[in-house]
Amino acid sequence: MSDEQLSTNFKKSEFICKCGCDHWPEDNVKKLVNFLQIIRDITKIPMIIESGVRCNTHDQAEGGSGVHVTGLAVDIIVPNSNRRFLLLDAFFYVRRIIPWKKEYKTMFPGVVVGGIVVGRIGVYLDNHVHMDLCPNRPNEVMWLK
Ligand SMILES: [Zn+2]
Ligand SMILES: [Zn+2]
Repeated sequence: MSDEQLSTNFKKSEFICKCGCDHWPEDNVKKLVNFLQIIRDITKIPMIIESGVRCNTHDQAEGGSGVHVTGLAVDIIVPNSNRRFLLLDAFFYVRRIIPWKKEYKTMFPGVVVGGIVVGRIGVYLDNHVHMDLCPNRPNEVMWLK
């Protein structure tokens, strides 16, 4: 099986639906991965992807609300409090600088609202952080679970 490199540090195999289906909302995944790559470049910390794209069936099995189906959501494992902090710090920073940087401007169509990239965070006590850029859900929210 070929494993496509989606960006410098991310491969397709890290993001495909774990049920083995071929659901792949390419345009949205591209925006998400570009966003994560900018975070990766800033933090220099490898990201362990727990979950990326999910089909409807798999998302429901995981108790999801549908955001992972769009391809704009990711769950990242954070092994400790410092990693969690640095990841969130970079997330907040990147969503604000993107609209200001010429080289990023055209990479995020549809997910920039009010001059800032959409930001939605879930902090999970089992040591992962959910991030998504879903424009049709409540923006600038952070839930705990
Ligand atoms: Zn699936
Ligand atoms: Zn999630």
